[in-house]
Amino acid sequence: MAKFTYHAPVTMSECLGMLRDNPGAKLLAGGTDLMVKIRDKLIQPDVVIDIKSLDELKGISMDDEGNIRIGALETHTEISESKLILKKYPFFAQACRWVGSMQIRNRGTIGGNICNGSPAGETLPSLYILNAKVHLRNDSGKRVLPISDFYCGPQKTCAYKDEIVTSIHIPAIKGKYKGAYRRQGRRNAVSIAMTTAAAMWREDDSTPTGKRFSIALGSVAPTVIMAKNAEEFLNGAASCSNEILEKAAMVALEDASPINDIRTTSDYRNELVYVLVKRCLKDIICNKGVE
Ligand SMILES: Cc1cc2nc3c(=O)[nH]c(=O)nc-3n(C[C@H](O)[C@H](O)[C@H](O)COP(=O)(O)OP(=O)(O)OC[C@H]3O[C@@H](n4cnc5c(N)ncnc54)[C@H](O)[C@@H]3O)c2cc1C
Repeated sequence: MAKFTYHAPVTMSECLGMLRDNPGAKLLAGGTDLMVKIRDKLIQPDVVIDIKSLDELKGISMDDEGNIRIGALETHTEISESKLILKKYPFFAQACRWVGSMQIRNRGTIGGNICNGSPAGETLPSLYILNAKVHLRNDSGKRVLPISDFYCGPQKTCAYKDEIVTSIHIPAIKGKYKGAYRRQGRRNAVSIAMTTAAAMWREDDSTPTGKRFSIALGSVAPTVIMAKNAEEFLNGAASCSNEILEKAAMVALEDASPINDIRTTSDYRNELVYVLVKRCLKDIICNKGVE
């Protein structure tokens, strides 16, 4: 393993100063992505800044308006077992339960998952349909980016080199809603997904069905994408019959542009888009909404 200088700041201002003074530094949260990349010589940072002691990156809470804040250091286990997340967004808790193995879920964080930027990142499709916001901070201030603006390409975020993600915020949803997450890997555990899909409806009087749909797809484009054509089709449809849901899943193929890679072929990914979107839509239509 290549040598690097290790720092473990105990305050945020100390951490931000280190990021400012070491442009080649890498942050270490759970280390489940970072240490693998350093070991495999995919990256060779001269400085690694361990952020695990920064308390302000921890915690899951909801304000009086129903907006949820998840600290960047919350692990997949903590999120999937959070009473608040299980009650409000059970499909997101389920997505966190799919990550790796128990050891990886106990160690890996949501901040690390979104900053790693893999189009197969397990938490991302749910965060996209929830319109999540990424809160960032550096030595000169704070900024907020919608999750869909956080990526500039595969495994490439738009965060500045000296920025840290402090938290992820899920805006409150007015009225009823229902969401679902589905994924397919080569195995049922410790297997990065070949394709992922999340879908949701929210109560909306302005559509013929009284529901507005959002659909996100992972691992079928350089970044997670919204299936805009399928959303438009569903939001204009007269009903949520089985035929309509199946047609919407076909339309989602127009949104995807998968490639062949070590995990699978583009043809199989297209099959998965159809099957996973159809299953997500049936999940959310056959169940009544949460409020
Ligand atoms: C065996 C194995 C199986 C896995 N299975 C899955 C899976 O099924 N699904 C899946 O999505 N992932 C999987 N992963 C990948 C990984 O575990 C997750 O992406 C995890 O959430 C990464 O979190 P971490 O805290 O370990 O990140 P780290 O490795 O600490 O960091 C990852 C990247 O994010 C940056 N970073 C971390 N925190 C911040 C922050 N707060 N602000 C700015 N930058 C930050 C780091 O500098 C680094 O570049 C797997 C990994 C392994 C080793």
